[in-house]
Amino acid sequence: MIFSSLAEKLQDTFNKLKGKGKLSEKDVKAALKEVKMALLEADVNYKVVKDFIKKIEERAVGNEVMESLTPGQHVIKIVNEEMQALMGGSKEDIAISSEPPTIIMMVGLQGSGKTTSAGKLARKLDKDGKNPLLVAGDVYRPAAIRQLQVLGERLDLPVFSMGDDSNPVDIAKGSINYASSHNCDTIILDTAGRLHIDQEMMEELESIKAAVDPDEILLVVDAMTGQDAVNVAKNFDQRLDVDGIVLTKMDGDARGGAALSIKAITGKPIKFAGTGEKLADLETFHPDRMSSRILG
Ligand code: GDP
Repeated sequence: MIFSSLAEKLQDTFNKLKGKGKLSEKDVKAALKEVKMALLEADVNYKVVKDFIKKIEERAVGNEVMESLTPGQHVIKIVNEEMQALMGGSKEDIAISSEPPTIIMMVGLQGSGKTTSAGKLARKLDKDGKNPLLVAGDVYRPAAIRQLQVLGERLDLPVFSMGDDSNPVDIAKGSINYASSHNCDTIILDTAGRLHIDQEMMEELESIKAAVDPDEILLVVDAMTGQDAVNVAKNFDQRLDVDGIVLTKMDGDARGGAALSIKAITGKPIKFAGTGEKLADLETFHPDRMSSRILG
């Protein structure tokens, strides 16, 4: 499970603090040094770690904390609050258009889990009482269209496709007419990814964005890729001004650096977490729950 090594180390550190009773400034600083090491080992961005520790130190090394009856608990509470803030504070919902259809555009590198996440999101919206339409806009990856059609069949949800020799901008535009004539209130647009960020992919995504003006652009990134995921997110956000992030493969043994750095570096919140290969494996991302899970 993601964060298991980080959680173990932090819980060790805090158990020592809790056992101490009264704390000196030196005790707190020593504990924070351990927290810092644990975060760096979890592949959290260096600058993010530095700022994070500084904030906690400012709050924790002071009379109020030292003189409280349970200073250890007090320090843990501060770490918990700051960790929650680091991941965005509170959960963030996706935008729903007041005039249907709501258009959600999924972007991301190939292999990040974009198509799977499109299916998972469709399932979730369907369960929430929406009528989603999946749109096969990845015309380059062999089998991407078929993959989406299979997901649609399994979910019993419509899939709009114009084959793989159509222009993705035309597909995106065409899906709006299709949605209105088929009573679909939400369009989930799968788009093409590449193995690496390239100019052509970005230009195409920009053209789709300009053509259909999505209500929500969700960037799908793979938690297993750590700081690479953060760099990828930064790049996509600079070009497309994304609205939120879907962090996939949180069920793997990723160290957690991406989850803890991405909001601070890009300013964009993680909205969903992918927690497995099955269509039900998508969770709304709750920074408070995630933080509590890490701190035990
Ligand atoms: P795309 O190229 O970005 O559209 O990627 P796919 O949706 O085809 O996913 C790539 C691989 O990652 C597939 O084998 C998926 O089953 C797998 N995958 C996607 N999301 C998750 C997740 O949250 N957890 C796990 N374990 N695997 C995932």
